[in-house]
Amino acid sequence: MSDKLIVIEKRVYIKTFGCQMNEHDSEWMLALLEECGYQETKRWEEADVILVNTCTVREKPEQKAYSIVGRFQQLKENNHDAIIGIAGCVAQQRGEGLLARMPTLDFVLGPGKIHKLPEILRDVKSGERGVCAVGFENGCPTNLPIPRTRQLRSYVTIMQGCDNFCSYCIVPAVRGRECSRPSDEVLAEIDALVQRGTKEVILLGQNVNSYAKNNPGELTFPRLLAKIDEIPGLERIRFTTSHPKDLTEELIEAFGTLEHLCEHFHLPFQAGSNAVLERMHRGHTREEYLAKIRALRKAAPQISITADVMVGFPGEDDDDFTQTLELVQAVEFDGFFSFKYSPRQGTRSAQWQDDVPPELKQWRLATLQELQREITLKKNKKLEGTVKEVLVEGRSRNSPHTMMGRTGCNRIVNFPGESGLVGELVLVKINEGLQNSLRGELSR
Ligand code: SAM
Ligand code: SF4
Repeated sequence: MSDKLIVIEKRVYIKTFGCQMNEHDSEWMLALLEECGYQETKRWEEADVILVNTCTVREKPEQKAYSIVGRFQQLKENNHDAIIGIAGCVAQQRGEGLLARMPTLDFVLGPGKIHKLPEILRDVKSGERGVCAVGFENGCPTNLPIPRTRQLRSYVTIMQGCDNFCSYCIVPAVRGRECSRPSDEVLAEIDALVQRGTKEVILLGQNVNSYAKNNPGELTFPRLLAKIDEIPGLERIRFTTSHPKDLTEELIEAFGTLEHLCEHFHLPFQAGSNAVLERMHRGHTREEYLAKIRALRKAAPQISITADVMVGFPGEDDDDFTQTLELVQAVEFDGFFSFKYSPRQGTRSAQWQDDVPPELKQWRLATLQELQREITLKKNKKLEGTVKEVLVEGRSRNSPHTMMGRTGCNRIVNFPGESGLVGELVLVKINEGLQNSLRGELSR
């Protein structure tokens, strides 16, 4: 008998917290369930299965996930057969503890066991209570279906896990050791996605530029990019995330040579002070980071640079924070994700005193964000009068006669146009640089 769970007209609702990797895991889970006859619903009240895909990188998303699961548990009052599961990094970290904490929960599924989802649902349906599948298997899973969502822009995982053990970070504990997918599999997946209409791929991994570091004979990351660049019909290649210590000259040069590689680099720096970077166990200094940025801008003068940065790490004093502000001023990022440090149980820094008071963390975050807002606006204004190539993604949320697309540098552009342009690369003259987007008109 087939292992597949055959279901007719059952609906699944998936709530995703956290990063692009989690979004992509949710796409995978949906694809697995679609193969079993489920359909996605956007209304949790009508779902037969609810999956909460969680993130534990910071405290806030973890707490949000708990509160939403609490709300979903009401579903069981009306539909006793409804199934509720927690997936993602909280599932991996808390495991069976979640089943004890939330008695109406049916299953817990870690990110290393996604492929087991159909099997787990079958077990729950046949009466098993509190199923827990966590942990990791050797290597990256190879038999996951290609998600049908996100046709124009598609995520493609090239590696999973992380070996870096930054002192604040829970990722190595909840995503396991680094493993890279074979390049022929990655290339075949991108080929198949392009056949289905994908124009842009976003290669995913916690540290994509150490791709295949443990697989002698495999392509390096820049060589993988070069192969992807040759796939006919693919217009754009992006990737995230990279680590400054693994950013090689070969990768920097790729920005000058590969036709479809978008001129955007997301390079987290986390802090501007060497003392803090050392305690974070980052493996790079402020000077090394700045030198890499200079090299990137030399190879690709128009490149947009974004980053992740944290404030309030244990021991961060006023001078350390000033150095973060100075680094932001010196680089003039195109944008960044900024966070208040929160200790994560099981990491090295969680053993140290979380000694920056919450109000000071909040003030530092606001100061940093205000500085970046000024820089972003200045950079967006500088683009006024230029013509940019834009991949049209769809209608703007605010107006039915306005289309929305993205430049190679990852800026959102709104311009008057028709929906027939979706999926096209068009030239747009930028008329106005705003805080979070650009406005323009088709350039003829
Ligand atoms: N692998 C990527 C890297 O090394 O930059 C990103 C990993 S993590 C999922 C995304 C971001 O969350 C990190 O770059 C960091 O800024 C932030 N982060 C990680 N742990 C954190 C913590 N304990 N508190 C606050 N922010 C944290
Ligand atoms: Fe976490 Fe550091 Fe690995 Fe990024 S490189 S996932 S911050 S341990």
